[in-house]
Amino acid sequence: MSETGIDEVRNRIAAACERAGRAVEDVKLVAVSKRKGPDAVRALADSGLDVFGESRVQEAAQKIPLCPTGLTWHMIGHIQRNKARDVARLFSYVHSVDSLRLLEALDGAAAEAGKTLPVLLEVNVSGEGSKFGLTPAEAPAVLERCQTLMNLDVSGVMTIPPFTPEAEEARPHFARLRELRDGWRAESGFPLDELSMGMSHDFEIAIEEGATWIRLGTILFGA
Ligand SMILES: *Cc1c(COP(=O)(O)O)cnc(C)c1O
Repeated sequence: MSETGIDEVRNRIAAACERAGRAVEDVKLVAVSKRKGPDAVRALADSGLDVFGESRVQEAAQKIPLCPTGLTWHMIGHIQRNKARDVARLFSYVHSVDSLRLLEALDGAAAEAGKTLPVLLEVNVSGEGSKFGLTPAEAPAVLERCQTLMNLDVSGVMTIPPFTPEAEEARPHFARLRELRDGWRAESGFPLDELSMGMSHDFEIAIEEGATWIRLGTILFGA
């Protein structure tokens, strides 16, 4: 896929919001810059994007210092626990907490870094496709543990549906994540307002199903 102009992406986001009766401000965009260099980041920053997502700690540690200052960096990929400190240092938001032990490691790392780190729990809704993520059955115990972790702000949930050529086939996974969230919100007392779902080929469906964060790589940067 070649890159699409940011204006066209914004128009498509707005049209999806319109169809869903949602305010366009309620859908935030993470520009996924993995495998792209600082120049590509700078070009998108110049067109007004300021939230960037990385999926590997090592790559981000090298890239971020070479990028414009004033950008916000989100971790969206699987994190090894021994990288928790780097994550707390480099990133201001984590979409991909997929185990209780990682959650605890990030809490300790955020404490050391002297910050409160917003995190999302990654949920493997379908039990297939994505390798990582909590099962829906595991999530309540993790949320329970969150009550006592003082350096994390558990803000919502994230999912990556199995890849299907037809974007429409992702819809039930997005809808299911939202329903699970509604249940966990009632049980845990955490608002869990954020739903991180939707990538280049299915973001419009995700917006229709309630996404508050969409994570776009290819459509912005090219393949
Ligand atoms: C790479 C990646 C994206 C972006 O995917 P595109 O299809 O290129 O938009 C989004 N989320 C995660 C977790 C990713 O690893």
